[in-house]
Amino acid sequence: MNTGCKTVAIANQKGGVGKTTSSINLAAALSKKRKKVLLIDSDPQGNASSGVGVNSRNLERHLYNSYIGSCPLAETVIQTGVKNLDVVPSNINLVAAEIELINKPERETTLKNLLASVADEYDYILIDCPPSLGLLTINALTAADSVLIPMQCEYFAMEGLAQLVSTIRSVKKSFNSNLFIEGLLLTMFDKRNKLTHQVAEELSKHFSKQLFKTVIPRNVRLSECPSHGQTVIDYDIRSTGAKAYIQLANEFLKNQR
Ligand code: ADP
Ligand code: MG
Repeated sequence: MNTGCKTVAIANQKGGVGKTTSSINLAAALSKKRKKVLLIDSDPQGNASSGVGVNSRNLERHLYNSYIGSCPLAETVIQTGVKNLDVVPSNINLVAAEIELINKPERETTLKNLLASVADEYDYILIDCPPSLGLLTINALTAADSVLIPMQCEYFAMEGLAQLVSTIRSVKKSFNSNLFIEGLLLTMFDKRNKLTHQVAEELSKHFSKQLFKTVIPRNVRLSECPSHGQTVIDYDIRSTGAKAYIQLANEFLKNQR
């Protein structure tokens, strides 16, 4: 039995910043290091599911069923083709969970209670959040020990970050007093772009201790692999994208000590 499971929400209300890419490939890199990992696809777009090779469109059981109480979470878990990596898939049905939760007393703590029933089986649970600060993200932040924030180095990045940090603060106050920021992760980094450096510099001024040293470069392999239903680790382990996520897993694990 394993009582040391850690849950990490991968969140940023902006779309297209690398949440799903980071969830899938950090999960894969950790599982490669013999950590038992559960990936929770908490975005109705279902990209984390398809990214690990699970076609969630016509599945009978997925995260939504557990959210509404019609199926224990353990029954939604699917073993992926990647050793040590399981996934709780989602599809467009998950949109309704957010609506159905609104009037429930446990609307913020539902996911936390669901995860408690499977945590014993895993070393890490990673939650891929949707691009919003709605109830699905609030549930993820309430269920998590920490939050990993992928950021694209672009002009409005800082603005969104302030809003996210304020949401994290209020979840901390109301539902999850131990929640902390695992780290900010710079994604799709393009070292030839001047703005990238300006934003990175600004971020390191304000969040120096919370910025991962590992930076994820823009790499075409990372954008190709989902269409093959493979993580970049399986798709092309020699790519700069795979190397970056393996380095991130190393840094992440080192920070756990
Ligand atoms: P989010 O989950 O935050 O919406 P995604 O992880 O889906 O963001 O990434 C958005 C798009 O950018 C996807 O098409 C993805 O394949 C691509 N992408 C993400 N990270 C990288 C990267 N480091 N290099 C190249 N393409 C990337
Ligand atoms: Mg996504």
